[in-house]
Amino acid sequence: MLESKVAVFTSPNTPITLITERTPPPSPTSLLIRVSHAGVCGSDLHRLTGDYPPPPAPISFGHEGVGTIAALGALITHDRAGAPLSPGDRIYWGPSTPCGAATCAACAASTPMKCPQLNWPVLAGRPNAAAYRTFATLSEKHFYYKIPEGTSAESVIAFGCAMPTALRAFARLGTLERGANVVVQGSGPVGLAMTVLAGLAGARAVVVIGDPEVRLQAAGRLGATHVLSVSGSTVEERRRRVMEITGGRGASVVVEAAGVPAAFPEGFELLGMNGRFLIVGLYSGKAVYPVDAVRINNFNLSIIGSVGIEPENYKRTVEIAEEHGKRLGFEELITHRFKLENVEEAIRAVVRPDAVKIVVMP
Ligand SMILES: [Zn+2]
Ligand SMILES: [Zn+2]
Repeated sequence: MLESKVAVFTSPNTPITLITERTPPPSPTSLLIRVSHAGVCGSDLHRLTGDYPPPPAPISFGHEGVGTIAALGALITHDRAGAPLSPGDRIYWGPSTPCGAATCAACAASTPMKCPQLNWPVLAGRPNAAAYRTFATLSEKHFYYKIPEGTSAESVIAFGCAMPTALRAFARLGTLERGANVVVQGSGPVGLAMTVLAGLAGARAVVVIGDPEVRLQAAGRLGATHVLSVSGSTVEERRRRVMEITGGRGASVVVEAAGVPAAFPEGFELLGMNGRFLIVGLYSGKAVYPVDAVRINNFNLSIIGSVGIEPENYKRTVEIAEEHGKRLGFEELITHRFKLENVEEAIRAVVRPDAVKIVVMP
C-alpha cells in the first residue's frame, strides 16, 4: 500500500482539504500513476466558486494529469494507441470513462462527455484517476497515452484539457480553406490552443483578441499574426482592425474561446462571406442576443458549437507537443507551479494577470 495525498472538494466556498489515503497496487487491468503534473483548468475555479451544482458527496478532482507509471496491472502492456508500456514511462490521461458502446446514444453521437458512464468527477476516499493526488489509479476504460522520449511532460500539460477541447472543436469546423483569416476571441488556454491549430492549418492571418499582456505575448509566440487587447480597444476599433487585416473581407472563421457573453455579438459582426463562427467558451450561464438571420442567409454563415472532448484528442495532444512543443515553446506557457498542499491557491491564481498556465506538482 502506498500513501497518497489527495485533494478533496466538498462544496463551493469551503476550503479544499488534503487527506491521506492508502492506495493499493493496481488490479490486473489497471495502472498506478505517480502524478508529476496536474494542470489547473479555469473550470476548477468555477467549481470552487459554485458555478457548478455542488457534488452529492466529497469528490476527488483535477482533470489534467501527467505522471509516471509506478506499477502496471499484469494485463496492461500497451497504451490505448498501442504503444508498449513499462513502469517508469510517462503518460498523459483523461480522467473520465465514456463507455464507447455503439448502443450508447451519447458515445455513438460523438458526444462522449455526455455519456451516462462518464464517472466524473469521482467520489473521494477510493483509488481514482483524478490528478490532484499523489497516486492516480487508471482502469482499462481510461484513455492514457505514452509521452515519447524527448517530449517533456510540461509541454503536454501546458495545454492540459485545452488542446483536446480545441482539437475537438476544430474538427467540428471542418477544413480551413486556403488563405483563411481566423479571429480567436480569448487568450486563455483554449484560445491559445486554437491559435496553435489555426497556425498549423495554414491560416493567412490569426488575430487573437484577448488580455492580459502576458497571454497576448504567448499568442504571438504560438502563431498569432496580430493581437488585439480587449481592455486597450473598443469593439468598433477591433472590428475596423479586423477589416483592415483581412483586406475588408472580414473573418473566414471566428473562434469564441473567451467565455464572455459579449464575445458573441462582437464575433458575429466580424464574420465575412462564408464565415464560420465556432463557439467553444460559452458553456455556462446564459448568453442571449438577437441575431440578424438575414445576415446568416446572405453571408452564407455557419454557427457551430462544440462541447467536450473525444478520447483520440488526448492522443493528438501528445503528438502536437512532440511535433511542435519545442519550436513553439509550449513549456514556457507554464508561469506558475504549486505544491499539492497549495492546490486551492493554485486554482484561485488562474485569474492573476501574470498567469498563463498554472500547474500543481503533487
Ligand atoms: Zn478543463
Ligand atoms: Zn457512453
